Amino acid sequence: MSHTSTCERDVHVDPLSPPISMSVGDRPAERHRDRHWAGSIAVAEARWAGLATVAFLGVLAVRALGGPADMAWALFVICYVSGGWQPGRAGLRALRKKILDVDLLMIVAALVAAGIGQELDGALLIVIFATSGALEAVATKRTRDSVRSLLSLAPEQATRLGPDGDEEVVEAAALVVGDLVLVRPGERVGADGLVVGGMSEVDQATITGEPLPVVKAAGAEVFAGTLNGTGVLRVRVLRAAGDTVVARIAAMVDEATVTKAKAQLFIERVEQRYSLAMVTVTLALLVVPLAFGAALQATLLRAMTFMIVASPCAVVLATMPPLLSAMANAGRHGVLVKSAVVMEQLARTTTVCFDKTGTLTEGTPRVAEVYLVAGSGMDEATLLGLAAGAEQPSEHPLARAIVAAAAEAGLPVAMPEAFSALPGRGVEALVMGRRVEVARPAGDLGPMQHAPVSEVAASLESAGHTAVVVTVDGNTSGVIGLTDRLRDGSSSCVAALAALTGKLPVLLTGDNARAARLLATAAGITDVRAGLLPKEKMAVVRELQGTGAIVIVVGDGVNDAPALATADIGVAMGRSGSDLAMSSADAVIIRDDLATLPAVIGVARHAKRVVVENIVIAVTVITVLVVIDLFGKLPLPLGVAGHEGSTVIVALNGLRLLSPRVWRRVGG
Ligand code: ADP
Ligand code: MG
Repeated sequence: MSHTSTCERDVHVDPLSPPISMSVGDRPAERHRDRHWAGSIAVAEARWAGLATVAFLGVLAVRALGGPADMAWALFVICYVSGGWQPGRAGLRALRKKILDVDLLMIVAALVAAGIGQELDGALLIVIFATSGALEAVATKRTRDSVRSLLSLAPEQATRLGPDGDEEVVEAAALVVGDLVLVRPGERVGADGLVVGGMSEVDQATITGEPLPVVKAAGAEVFAGTLNGTGVLRVRVLRAAGDTVVARIAAMVDEATVTKAKAQLFIERVEQRYSLAMVTVTLALLVVPLAFGAALQATLLRAMTFMIVASPCAVVLATMPPLLSAMANAGRHGVLVKSAVVMEQLARTTTVCFDKTGTLTEGTPRVAEVYLVAGSGMDEATLLGLAAGAEQPSEHPLARAIVAAAAEAGLPVAMPEAFSALPGRGVEALVMGRRVEVARPAGDLGPMQHAPVSEVAASLESAGHTAVVVTVDGNTSGVIGLTDRLRDGSSSCVAALAALTGKLPVLLTGDNARAARLLATAAGITDVRAGLLPKEKMAVVRELQGTGAIVIVVGDGVNDAPALATADIGVAMGRSGSDLAMSSADAVIIRDDLATLPAVIGVARHAKRVVVENIVIAVTVITVLVVIDLFGKLPLPLGVAGHEGSTVIVALNGLRLLSPRVWRRVGG
């Protein structure tokens, strides 16, 4: 036999296999069918198990009342067939693929028992086995359902408006950027897009977690999968179905579900050898006593019992369900953990590093002051207009603030003819024929920097502002001071993390040291590393790792991507975060709520404890039962009950991690 596994129940042991075929908007109909199918398996198993149990109780009643033997036999057959046909068929299929299946062993053991006149024992075995199988299937289905419920479904169809207002119902997947769609009251929005007409309230809870509907009118952005209220909206499609926010989340979850935890991989490697050894011992238990003239019946029963109780089913089920349940729980509370490996790592975190702008702060800075360099021949409006033009293509929060300030002042903002971003430093662009640079005040970027400019910048920074210097055609022309607010809950998050890890978080920022320190103090952080370029943030992470720390980096920007990728666990902000940050990260805080970070670490630790607990339970039960069977006398039904019982306990133990109470307890 090339591949031996006695626990092929990990067909449903791994709750998420077969991997979810997600591709939102791709083949949604199939997805529905899949889900339906998975659900009905659990239900069907429960029904068959119920029938087997009833038949078994019937046998007991008939025997107790001294009823006709034929009736008892008929009930026996019903019990054996209803409880045994499904696992039997699965076992035979597995056997054809050269996989030895524990299901089959159970059926064989039951038939052997019946064959040697122990039909009641055999029936009990079938009943216990079928019931525990059904329980497992139901437990597994719950985990899978809650992971899947993260993907609030994007609708399959949308109403497309033609050029002359005609309506056409099309597959949402067929929508292309620029299409105009109509969203009727109560419908789900079919695509990510921009509202161009109508007004309505949209419930975005599925994407942002925001409990209250948001009013959307022309100019507002709407997301696929969100629920329209009472109004009618006309929406211009901004992203193809595969790129929508829901699709992105779906893709991440999809990735998450096919990865396996390290502990699980280890167990599966060991399991192969273990199973082989187990079958060998079983054969020895059969052959050796028989060779010495032992009684066939007793020997057969002992060997069968050994094979069943030594099966590592509970061990195989020990790891993934708790980790996946923890992932589902975190997802429901707004943290997307991309894999079980990440969940394992989260439990080991020792140090947390925060980016400043957009992570610890709200990331919606406002322009507070505009300072003009005397003799630059420029007025405030021109300076702000040019700066805003240069910042137009940038996704940086500071850039958004400068563009917003110009728009507020009613200035025309031109799209630049050329643009390049200097991550962690600023931008460079050609605006209306002029070379404009907006960047942090630093010697290397402003060769023409005047003394007054550095003074202005320094005083702005001492007041906690971020200062950026505007250079036009090589001349330092002005300084813009921007302020940002600490996010609500930053300081309680910092305190909670310090309590969890025993170490205060570290602040990593590209901003100036003065402003950074002021802000850090407000958040309760003392270790501040300021003025860092993206590569230097990464270097700090390496340095911390060099001291043996398991490092989380939390960030939002393109400038954080290298650090996010280097960290043991990169965490991106989901709402304000850039796409690059989200794809570099291992986890996403979907609603930018920092309070979820200590909570998810707490849940991860809880999951890890449950994994250890499970392994201890599983190994102890196997050892005890094997020892009793080999050196004492273990009745077959008792062995099966012990084996199945521990398997079910382990499966249910993992499900505890789904409870909102676990999150609340650790999340406070
Ligand atoms: P943080 O690490 O706090 O998120 P960044 O690394 O993104 O900050 O930026 C560091 C500094 O570089 C900012 O404080 C700012 O002075 C400058 N900077 C970065 N991007 C821009 C931009 N688009 N426009 C102007 N200045 C910028
Ligand atoms: Mg940032």
